[in-house]
Amino acid sequence: MFADKDISKFNNIETPFYYYDTDLLQKTLRTCADAAAPYQFHIHYALKANFNSVLLNQIKEIGFGADCVSAGEVRRAVEVGFDHKKIVFAGVGKSDKEINEALDLDIFCFNVESIQELEVLNELAGKKGKTAQVAIRINPNVDAHTHHNITTGLDENKFGINSWDLPECAETLKASPNLKFIGIHFHIGSQITNLDVYKNLCVRVNEFAAWFEDKGFSLKVLNVGGGLGIDYYNPDHQIPDFESYFKIFNEFLTVKPGQEVHFELGRALVGQSASLITRVLYIKNGKKKNFVVLDAGMTELMRPALYQAYHKIENLSQSRATGSKSEIVKYDIVGPICESTDCFGKEVEQPESFRGDIFAIRSAGAYGEVMASKYNLRDAIRSVYSYEI
Ligand SMILES: *Cc1c(COP(=O)(O)O)cnc(C)c1O
Repeated sequence: MFADKDISKFNNIETPFYYYDTDLLQKTLRTCADAAAPYQFHIHYALKANFNSVLLNQIKEIGFGADCVSAGEVRRAVEVGFDHKKIVFAGVGKSDKEINEALDLDIFCFNVESIQELEVLNELAGKKGKTAQVAIRINPNVDAHTHHNITTGLDENKFGINSWDLPECAETLKASPNLKFIGIHFHIGSQITNLDVYKNLCVRVNEFAAWFEDKGFSLKVLNVGGGLGIDYYNPDHQIPDFESYFKIFNEFLTVKPGQEVHFELGRALVGQSASLITRVLYIKNGKKKNFVVLDAGMTELMRPALYQAYHKIENLSQSRATGSKSEIVKYDIVGPICESTDCFGKEVEQPESFRGDIFAIRSAGAYGEVMASKYNLRDAIRSVYSYEI
């Protein structure tokens, strides 16, 4: 991914920063759009993976819609120029203020996560003399076989409406004059790499769709969410297998004439397009451990501290040094934050490293910059784009 000229340029830029490869992003978006086109699948990009406006502009240009989980994200999508008729709004805890704002912006659909939310949305839409389009987010109790902190579609998770509440949900829909029920929605988790999980999801979606149609509802939209994973171990193996992914839905999902299939991809579209570039501040060689102390920490990239996520770490200065037969050393690679969980990797093999070396923490395009915090009153993280340097 990194040309030698990039690395020499990194040396002149103040670290830490996110480095975005906008060419790779473009290639990934194109590949995804081309893989979805034969089936006429609709794609909404999940802004929460990364709401950086430079990326959003590229994603909007390719024609995708926006999947938002707060009024702030809805606003950002509108500001960037996403068509409001391609914006969906999910989330278990939409406040009245957020719902009102989304109603004012005439978004395409609210993905509703509880019966009480249906009642509130009906009331707020009524006060504005509007009809809100809704899809019901159903918890299908399908195991995503991913890290337990990022699974969302099991009975014990807070997301969606449980199957046993659907009869009451159907009654509420019928009794809500200001709601237009257009479909059913699912999102079972993130970083899903076992595609069989999606076959199981299709089977459940077919069952729920049949149940609603039995009750006399017609469904215009089947929204199967996102969650497609990326290969964190091989960041140069960059573009996810969108073709196999869409093929499964084409094969296993029962789609009626006139029905639309919607996807909400986040990580798979943006994950590989960025690295966190950081510099070694100090090397500490202890009795039991050797530490590399970087100038980036959990405040810049929280995934390792938050859910023990793996990111490949590369010492760009030493791995490129020509003719060096540098010794391999095992390091704990840590940040400067006053927390023991501020660690990007333990016992990671690296060429012997020195103060001033440039490190890349790879596959940081999704759930990276968006989760940055001010903890320890750190400076805001900056972004650098491949077209700039
Ligand atoms: C987070 C989220 C997504 C995107 O998940 P990825 O794993 O990034 O693809 C899609 N839909 C909903 C409702 C979400 O909350």
